[in-house]
Amino acid sequence: MTSTTPFVTPLFTPPSSCSSEYNVAWFKRFDLVLNALDNRQARCHVNRMCLAADVPLVESGSAGYLGQVTVIKKGLTECYECQPKPHQKTFPGCTIRNTPSEPIHCIVWAKHLFK
Ligand SMILES: [Zn+2]
Repeated sequence: MTSTTPFVTPLFTPPSSCSSEYNVAWFKRFDLVLNALDNRQARCHVNRMCLAADVPLVESGSAGYLGQVTVIKKGLTECYECQPKPHQKTFPGCTIRNTPSEPIHCIVWAKHLFK
């Protein structure tokens, strides 16, 4: 993917955004990070890296037809992990089908197959 503006460099990261390759030094290269991740573990990792690198993070997510966007900036806002989260009862289809990473993902997929 190429950028249509000189100010934005879109990057796709592989499913494991928690890889050691994506460390503080890697995140320091950016002026702003836009999250579009599908699991809490990866969100926590990016949150911590952006705090350590002092790079603003725009965290986003969706559940069904509902979406949310939150700006996280070190020293100005609470971070992703400080924000209270409801117990997750639904999971994105892509996670369940393609990249299950927790036992609950397999259970939800098995229940889906029995319906
Ligand atoms: Zn925090």
